[in-house]
Amino acid sequence: MVYAPTRPDPSLPPVRVNLYSDTQTKPSAGMKDAMMRAEVGDEQHGDDPTVHELCDRMAALLGKEAAVFLPSGTMCNQIAILTHCRPGDEIIAHESAHIITSEGGGPGALTGVSILGLPGPRGMFVVDTLRAGFREKRRNAPPQTLLEVEQTANFGGGAVWPIAQLDAVLQAGKAQGLATHMDGARLMNAVVAAGVPAHEMTAHCDSVWLDFTKGLGAPLGAVLCGPADFIDQAWRWKQRLGGSLRQAGVCAAACLYALDHNVDRLAEDHGNAQRLARGLAQIEGLAVETPETNLVFFDTRATGLTADAFADRVRQEGVMISTMGKYRARACTHLDVDAAGVDLALQVMRAALAG
Ligand SMILES: *Cc1c(COP(=O)(O)O)cnc(C)c1O
Repeated sequence: MVYAPTRPDPSLPPVRVNLYSDTQTKPSAGMKDAMMRAEVGDEQHGDDPTVHELCDRMAALLGKEAAVFLPSGTMCNQIAILTHCRPGDEIIAHESAHIITSEGGGPGALTGVSILGLPGPRGMFVVDTLRAGFREKRRNAPPQTLLEVEQTANFGGGAVWPIAQLDAVLQAGKAQGLATHMDGARLMNAVVAAGVPAHEMTAHCDSVWLDFTKGLGAPLGAVLCGPADFIDQAWRWKQRLGGSLRQAGVCAAACLYALDHNVDRLAEDHGNAQRLARGLAQIEGLAVETPETNLVFFDTRATGLTADAFADRVRQEGVMISTMGKYRARACTHLDVDAAGVDLALQVMRAALAG
């Protein structure tokens, strides 16, 4: 088996601290209670009141006309690309963008677009770099139709685009005639970290989505927002791809619960990420990137261990982290990890490298 996920290895000890990803959270008792009490209807028939409530709240939060509920963030990105672009078009994004590295080649396979990946530190780029990527409108050049940014930039280390840089880049894209799309998988982490309201961060994006399965703790669901006619077209793709749902209010209720209970507390995750980074920086051989939100990237090269070897070693002691490159490891804080969990993980990581 190459592509199917493997089942947990029964010979491994139980996980004590899960820093693998903020996607690993389990729905809380309060969230499950909200799911159980949800009013539901046939979502693809327009009859699910809880999904409507979620979409209305999300459109208002992100300052857009309309919204559509989808099962995952990947489907939000793919449907946005299908809706904005035509086969043969070119998207401009950062070279580490999730749509390039982590969606199975979806933009090429589904829409038939190519993506120009721009360089820049921490998953971001500046207006000059963007302008250098603009192509002349020539018969033999791909038409550039979409500019995509990630807030926060995942493989950029959970970095937050400063609002001035974000606005400048998106406005330069628009001036060039590009549509603009924000992958807001962890948008609320950026909002909480920067103290900038969500609708200000999304002001120059035509479309934007938010994931409920990252720091917000829901079991599934993401909401794509944009102009009413864009969302109307997105519904065609939702139907074609099998993303039209039935009594989806059960899931939308979890997302509404997350909006009410799990947004402000993201600050705790950011505090725990700082605590983790401070501890890691004191471990001989680990080079830590200063976290801006809940993702802590660090380099294992000086320990002589690859990131995978280091991750395997700490997993033997019940600590789970992920790896993002030969020597690049990632630890992610979230609502199922507290400060004591961070301290325990640090103790295990220190011991794993001692002796
Ligand atoms: C997780 C993630 C996605 C995909 O979201 P899923 O809900 O896992 O499909 C897209 N973009 C970024 C930046 C992500 O971190």
